[in-house]
Amino acid sequence: MSPKLSKPLSPGDVITQDMPFIHVLDVEFKGKYCDNCLKQSDQLKRCSKCLYMYYCSKECQKNDWKYHKNECKLYGNHLIQMMINDKFGALWFRLYLSVQKIPTFATKKYRLFDGSDVSLRDISVDVSAASDAMRSHCQDICEIH
Ligand SMILES: [Zn+2]
Ligand SMILES: [Zn+2]
Repeated sequence: MSPKLSKPLSPGDVITQDMPFIHVLDVEFKGKYCDNCLKQSDQLKRCSKCLYMYYCSKECQKNDWKYHKNECKLYGNHLIQMMINDKFGALWFRLYLSVQKIPTFATKKYRLFDGSDVSLRDISVDVSAASDAMRSHCQDICEIH
């Protein structure tokens, strides 16, 4: 059964809101916004190991650790540094490591707008449609890993 709207929609109305299943902060906002909750703050604390991630609180650092623990020790690598300074490189890197290292990451189900549940495993990607930059990142990751 389709849900009923309580009033007609207008431009700008929020229809749905959800957290992304994975995210990274754009390089240009590094050190200005929390890497976990994305709030702006001038009181951010850096990850003491890699000095690359910034968090507004211990709780945010703790919440991000399930992803960041896979990246943290690799951030000293020169190739990785080049990759994560690119807009999509850091996201690719985090996604790749999460699929590899977090057992339930690729199989966890997410609810779609139509009510169906889907996991990353259920999604097929046409690799030939990927941009040269994305293909290059994938090759870099495979060489480093
Ligand atoms: Zn935060
Ligand atoms: Zn770190």
